[in-house]
Amino acid sequence: MKTIIILGGGVGGIVTANELSSLLGREHKIILIEKNKEHTFAPSYLWLMNGDRKKEHISVPLRSLLRKNVEVINATVDEIVSDEKKVAADGKEFHYDFLVIALGADLAPEKITGLDDSTHTFYTYEGAAKLHDTLKNFPGGKVAVVISSMPYKCPGAPYEGAMLIEDFLTDKGVREQTDIHLFTPEPQPLPVAGPELGNAVTNILDKKRIRFHPKMQLDSVDAKSKQLIFNGNGSFEYNLLVVIPPHQAPEVVRKSDLANNKGWIDVDAASLKTKHENVFAIGDNASVSLPGRWDPDKPMMLPKAGVFADLQAKVVAQNIGKQINGENADKTFGAEGYCMLEAGENLAGFAYGDFFGQPHPQVQLKIVGKKWHIGKILFEKWWLSPVGFKKAFYKKLLQAGSKITGVPIKL
Ligand SMILES: Cc1cc2nc3c(=O)[nH]c(=O)nc-3n(C[C@H](O)[C@H](O)[C@H](O)COP(=O)(O)OP(=O)(O)OC[C@H]3O[C@@H](n4cnc5c(N)ncnc54)[C@H](O)[C@@H]3O)c2cc1C
Repeated sequence: MKTIIILGGGVGGIVTANELSSLLGREHKIILIEKNKEHTFAPSYLWLMNGDRKKEHISVPLRSLLRKNVEVINATVDEIVSDEKKVAADGKEFHYDFLVIALGADLAPEKITGLDDSTHTFYTYEGAAKLHDTLKNFPGGKVAVVISSMPYKCPGAPYEGAMLIEDFLTDKGVREQTDIHLFTPEPQPLPVAGPELGNAVTNILDKKRIRFHPKMQLDSVDAKSKQLIFNGNGSFEYNLLVVIPPHQAPEVVRKSDLANNKGWIDVDAASLKTKHENVFAIGDNASVSLPGRWDPDKPMMLPKAGVFADLQAKVVAQNIGKQINGENADKTFGAEGYCMLEAGENLAGFAYGDFFGQPHPQVQLKIVGKKWHIGKILFEKWWLSPVGFKKAFYKKLLQAGSKITGVPIKL
């Protein structure tokens, strides 16, 4: 009998647990430890922001998403002691044979002077709902959408957010008295996806009259005078500020001996193994360097995205299953990712490609259209459906759509 403990019940944790449960016999224990009882679907925060969803539409009990033989422990993980093969949660110890760490990334607005929990963001469930209320009453003026630092989750989301804000203010009739600006320390949109995608997104921003300001590193915010101060690049006065706050690994990861000098967990890109035997890290808390582009001064890392958390979870679960069943653990992670990129007006683009491609990632953007927006809605329905008939139904629909459109959606 083996015990597999999964830390975190977000995208990576849920997929790992369900995959393991379908691979292993009942004699093995699959334990998932998660601090929240409810699971919220982060890609839908954008629709919460623009009013297309209400809070209750995008949040479901975590238990409903997990297969029966996954034991869920509702607790906060406070220690990972890999040497002794144990973790502690709410002060209680749990021993494991295999450990999968999928604790995601935390937001740390306090890292930038002038930012705090009251600054608008669509990167949290509460924040997206609050921003919607503000947008409803926004009379027009200067909107600044600011990517405060790297890395951040989902390289496309800030761009989608800016386009949905543009769409919302157009429908509200205040677009003509509004300027929308997007500031980022990146040299182009989604640099990690390569130049082709970056150019495509810049063109869409241009058409929507969203002013794009690359290579702008936010230094601080003066909320009183509504000024953004950039590192060596002057300042900008805003009326409405929407920030993608700095990200950091959860505290329990940062204080563990697995953390690298930035706090994330270094893993082998193919197997997601950490430096400790039978301990794996997947998803946002893992740090995966992109092959062929490793320059310590300008590190290029695999983006933090649900699509990769999902693929990595499957690789790790299958390899743990194989190891337990005495087979060769030979599954490897290939970073073929995709994303439906919301562009407003109920339209979306579809970006896909190989993030491990050389000399740079080969990611393309399919032309923006209605079908990718519908695909994103179906994806949301599939993800939030309870395990069982409804989930299977949406999976079939998505697979059929994927065949018709010829896009590589792997579920
Ligand atoms: C606005 C927005 C839009 C996005 N859109 C997309 C998209 O279109 N496509 C895409 O691929 N990705 C998207 N993402 C990114 C995606 O949501 C994340 O990359 C993905 O959820 C990462 O999965 P994970 O399992 O690593 O972490 P998470 O899903 O964040 O799960 C981590 C879990 O660990 C729990 N946890 C943390 N610390 C503790 C602790 N100490 N004890 C117990 N539990 C703990 C958390 O509560 C959480 O449930 C988006 C993100 C945002 C914010």
